Amino acid sequence: KPQNERQRLPVVPQGIERDDFVKALGELGEQLGAEHVEVNDKPLRDGWYMEHPNTHDMMTILDEEEFVASAIVYPGSTEEVQQVVNWANKHRIPVFPISMGRNLGYGGAAPRVRGSVTVDLGRRMNKILDINAEDYTCLVEPGVTFYALYEALKERGLDEHMWIDTPDIGGGSVIGNTVDRGVGYTPYGDHWACHSGLEVVLPTGELIRTGMGALPGNNTWQTFPYGFGPYSDGIFSQSNFGIVIKMGMTLMPNPGGHESFMYTFPNEEDLAPLMEIIRPLRISNILENAAQVRHVTQHIAVRGLPRSTFYSGPGPVPASTIHAAAAQTPVGDHTWAYYGMAYGPPHIRSHKLTLIDSEFKRIPGAKRIDPSTLPADEYFWSRDRIARGVPDIHELRWVNWASNGAHIAFSPVSPIRGRDASKLFALGRRLHDRYGLDFFPAFIVGLREMHLIVEIVFDRADPERKAAALSCLRDLVEEAAREGYGEYRTHLVLMDQVAGTYAWNDGALMKFNQRLKDALDPNGILAPGRCGIWPKRYRGRGWEM
Ligand code: ADP
Repeated sequence: KPQNERQRLPVVPQGIERDDFVKALGELGEQLGAEHVEVNDKPLRDGWYMEHPNTHDMMTILDEEEFVASAIVYPGSTEEVQQVVNWANKHRIPVFPISMGRNLGYGGAAPRVRGSVTVDLGRRMNKILDINAEDYTCLVEPGVTFYALYEALKERGLDEHMWIDTPDIGGGSVIGNTVDRGVGYTPYGDHWACHSGLEVVLPTGELIRTGMGALPGNNTWQTFPYGFGPYSDGIFSQSNFGIVIKMGMTLMPNPGGHESFMYTFPNEEDLAPLMEIIRPLRISNILENAAQVRHVTQHIAVRGLPRSTFYSGPGPVPASTIHAAAAQTPVGDHTWAYYGMAYGPPHIRSHKLTLIDSEFKRIPGAKRIDPSTLPADEYFWSRDRIARGVPDIHELRWVNWASNGAHIAFSPVSPIRGRDASKLFALGRRLHDRYGLDFFPAFIVGLREMHLIVEIVFDRADPERKAAALSCLRDLVEEAAREGYGEYRTHLVLMDQVAGTYAWNDGALMKFNQRLKDALDPNGILAPGRCGIWPKRYRGRGWEM
């Protein structure tokens, strides 16, 4: 794409004249400072993960101009966030809050409604307000990334005392990831479950604190998440009911030792018996962190070489080619790799590791890989860092698989059961074959459930490949739902479809969400359409996709 010109005229929000919009932005500039209000009229540059744009989805699967902001504003305080919200209500302009905007694979920084004003909270509201080494908690603003929190512990000499939990890629914000219900790989990996207390600007401009934060003078906001009365935090995750400007997060005490381990299993068919072995071990916490069971295709892709190194024919790279490439790596001629970590001092670890070893070896041919044989740049060590709360970006390397590589995920939830794993695996394989796509399945075992994460990597400069990826995703969502599987999180483009699969009792849950939306956001200004929730002004008027 030409990098020096816009293919379409810079967008203004729907329902307002261009001149009136410019005037309204000027008004906001007087409140925030003109330098904190930016019109999105420059060429859209994709950058890369660490220098990502906040104007659009840099990994777009539609035309780049579809999910695009009209302007970006940078509030620097609670009052300024409230001013933005009041301004949006006055002019009926949709605003879309982001913390960092590195939510790649789910929409990045892009708004759901074309022409929304993006509220980039992270740029100026990026303070760590508190780290409490006695309670093992912290309080952060939207711009605090996993890297920043990790560095802050180090600077304060607390990194041996306590750990953070980081997702696979550490450049996102603690708040953005947590409100989108992202996960990490220490025992504190369920970020939403580990947060305690929110401060939220409501769509009408009021300010609330949840949990113990509502009690003036409390000293338990970050230690007791519930407070008194309905637990309202839930409605601020995967929603469009409020702008989170502070969040409490719990931190993990250093367990006194840690040790990563890796096993490989020879055959695709080993998946089902392996899941049966994992379930009781994980639920009883012998396996202590979210497990990763990764397919050999992704193991090859994460080495960072483009698929053209291995194969230039049509359709997916043949299995024999993948296995030939894997033969040179620690996975050898095997198909699945399990990554996990044991925590605690040596005698505690050895009890668990011995059990795990004998259980995993019930799969014929299962092999434990000795970490001391693995070179420093092996992916294993990235998993090792992440499982002890050290942020990393090695995982991004599989994006190189396609030229102009972009990715988008299908992530259904299922019980930890062999038959579910096999069913989802077969479904994914069949639909990827239908569209000629390489299949990258990884099973992430939470506690009592697992998410299958399938990343589709596509060339974002190739309209035909983008269309194939999107059609594949749409079929995956639909066919999985027919079998009773739903996504745990999704990209902007699939939000209506995924929300539509949660349709029990004539869509009663969505009706409830819409009622909340209309009560909390009567003018429908906050992130319309996010997670399939459309305010009254938009509903049934052609916005759903
Ligand atoms: P990351 O911090 O991982 O880069 P984002 O900032 O892109 O993630 O956030 C992911 C999504 O969560 C956003 O698209 C937005 O819809 C929502 N979100 C992020 N931060 C907030 C916030 N502070 N308040 C409300 N919603 C938010």
